[in-house]
Amino acid sequence: MGKKGEVKLLVDGKRTDGRKLDEIRPLKMVIGVLDNADGSAYVEWGNNKAYAGVFGPRECFPKFLANPYKAILRVHYNMSAFSTKHERMRPGPGRRSMELSEVITNVFENVIQLEKFPNTAIDVHVELVQADGGTRCTAINAVSLALADAGIPMKDLVQAVSIGKIDGQLALDLNGDEDNYGEADMPIALANRNGDILLLQMDGLLTKEEINTAMGMAGEACKKIYEAQREALIKRYEV
Ligand code: ADP
Repeated sequence: MGKKGEVKLLVDGKRTDGRKLDEIRPLKMVIGVLDNADGSAYVEWGNNKAYAGVFGPRECFPKFLANPYKAILRVHYNMSAFSTKHERMRPGPGRRSMELSEVITNVFENVIQLEKFPNTAIDVHVELVQADGGTRCTAINAVSLALADAGIPMKDLVQAVSIGKIDGQLALDLNGDEDNYGEADMPIALANRNGDILLLQMDGLLTKEEINTAMGMAGEACKKIYEAQREALIKRYEV
């Protein structure tokens, strides 16, 4: 495996998968895919494939975790052992999946109206059966739809995308190689209505100007993701 900066990620302005710099990968969204969940969604984003299932609001176990003022939210993010191309994932929860579970929980604690369901728990499981860069964003887009499918009241639908820097240029929605060998990666989640920032992480190096431009590009991408979410919801619920 090469080091960062050693692999050519842009040839004649085109990326390794043929995309333009401001182009997101093809998106497929299907709602209501798991019979045993109260709400569910499947999202395919490029080579990422994610299933999200929502269970609840339901009685909270263990009981001492119950909050008399609001529901507790627990999001469990997992990458399947067979999900990656290069090496077999170590199965089970590791530090990375625990961090991502926490980060995704924080995103949705700010949009779900948890106070409507005191003393209950809302459990969300998101399983990445295929992973190729940007899985936390794929997971957030899928969870957003699964929560809507479960009829959980939210202030807004959430969209997420990562924006990074490859061969010195800003690029939307990094794939696995771009994430590995690029110079920066900044995943962002936004609330659809007012663009509130619900998640902002970054590794690598970006200038202040690049961050400003990146935020604008992410906003435009999130509008496209919202349209795909809206279409998936209409398809599921049209009569
Ligand atoms: P994200 O998937 O949100 O971009 P990371 O930056 O941590 O999160 O991971 C980038 C990509 O690296 C993942 O999408 C996946 O394709 C790959 N990856 C992450 N963890 C592992 C692992 N333990 N084994 C193999 N590949 C991994």
